[in-house]
Amino acid sequence: MALKPGVVSGEDYSELVNSCKQGGYALAAVNCVGTDSVNAAMEAAAQNNSDIIIQFSNGGAQFYAGKGMKDAFQAKVLGAVSAAHHVHLLAEHYGICVVLHTDHANRKLVPWVDALIDHSEAHFKAHGRPLYTSHMLDLSEDDIDDNLSECARVLRRMAPLDMSLEIELGITGGEEDGVGHEVEEGADNSKLYTQPEDVLKAYDLLSPIGHFSVAASFGNVHGVYKPGNVQLRPEILRNSQALVAETHGTKGNPLNLVFHGGSGSEKAKIAEALTYGVFKMNIDTDTQFAFAEAVGAYVNANARAFKYQIDPEDGSPYKKQYDPRKWLRAGEEGFIARLEEAFADLGSAGKSIAG
Ligand SMILES: [Zn+2]
Repeated sequence: MALKPGVVSGEDYSELVNSCKQGGYALAAVNCVGTDSVNAAMEAAAQNNSDIIIQFSNGGAQFYAGKGMKDAFQAKVLGAVSAAHHVHLLAEHYGICVVLHTDHANRKLVPWVDALIDHSEAHFKAHGRPLYTSHMLDLSEDDIDDNLSECARVLRRMAPLDMSLEIELGITGGEEDGVGHEVEEGADNSKLYTQPEDVLKAYDLLSPIGHFSVAASFGNVHGVYKPGNVQLRPEILRNSQALVAETHGTKGNPLNLVFHGGSGSEKAKIAEALTYGVFKMNIDTDTQFAFAEAVGAYVNANARAFKYQIDPEDGSPYKKQYDPRKWLRAGEEGFIARLEEAFADLGSAGKSIAG
C-alpha cells in the first residue's frame, strides 16, 4: 500500500519497516546538523526515489538550535523540535517518506528524550501524530535488566503516541557524538557482540508494550577505523532472529534490526546483514567526509575568493565565489552523491512506498 509522502509514524512506520524487511532492503539513517544536511538528505532521497531516515544526535540537535545558545540542554531540546518542524513542513513536498529519529541517548541523556516526548505529546494532542517517529535509548553501559526496564518505561510513554523506540544491546565500538566506547586494539572485544539470549529478553519484555527496534552489536564500530581490528559477524543477527522466531513460533525475521557504525563497512557484510532483517543503517562519518571533501575542493579551486573580497592585483570581485550558497551547495552535492551510493548499497533506490 502506498503511503502519503511526508513524515511517517505509527501504523505507517510499521508498514515501512515491514516493506524493508520483506523487500530485503534497508533505509539510510542520516545524521543531520542543520537545514543544509536535512535538505540535501531529502533531495538525495527524492532523486533516487528512496525513503529515508533523518536523525539527530544530541550534539546535532544542539547545533541546529545554535552553538551560541547559553543553556545547552534547552538547545538540545529546542534544536530537535525546530528540526522536526522543518522536516514536517517540507518532507511531503519532496514526495518521499521520511522517518524522524534521534540517535544515541545514554543514561545522562534520558531527560533529553523525555523532554522530546513531552513535545510529541503536545503535537499529538494538536495534530493526531507525534513530532518524532522514534527515539533511541542507548543504555548498553548498564546491565541488561536495568537497560531493559528503563526502555520499557520510555516505550510505555511513547506507544500511545504512535512512537517507536530503538534500543541498544551490546555495544557499538567507537563513539557517536560523545556517547560510546573506545575500541582497544588487541583487547577483549566480546562486548562488541550481542548475545541472542539478551535479544530474546528484550523481545519478551517490549513487544507487548509497543513497536521497537534493536541495535544489536555484531562487531560494528562507529567511524572509520583501520581494518582488521574488529571482525564483523552478521551471523549474530541471524542467530538472534532464529532464537526469537523459534521461541515465539513466528515466521521470518520477527526483530527490527539496526546497523550502527556502517561507515567503511565491507559491502558484502552489509548485503549479508540485510538478509537478517536489518531495516536501518546509520551513516554519519562517510557523509560528513563527503560534505567536507566537496567544500574543500571548492575552496581550493577558488582560494583567492576566500582571502580577498576584490582581487588586489586585477580588481576582480569575488562575491559570486564566496557567497555561502556556492560553497554550502558544493558540500550538499558531495553529501547527496555519497547518499546515492548508500541507497545503492542498501537496495532502497527506486523503492519508495510514497504514492
Ligand atoms: Zn550508533
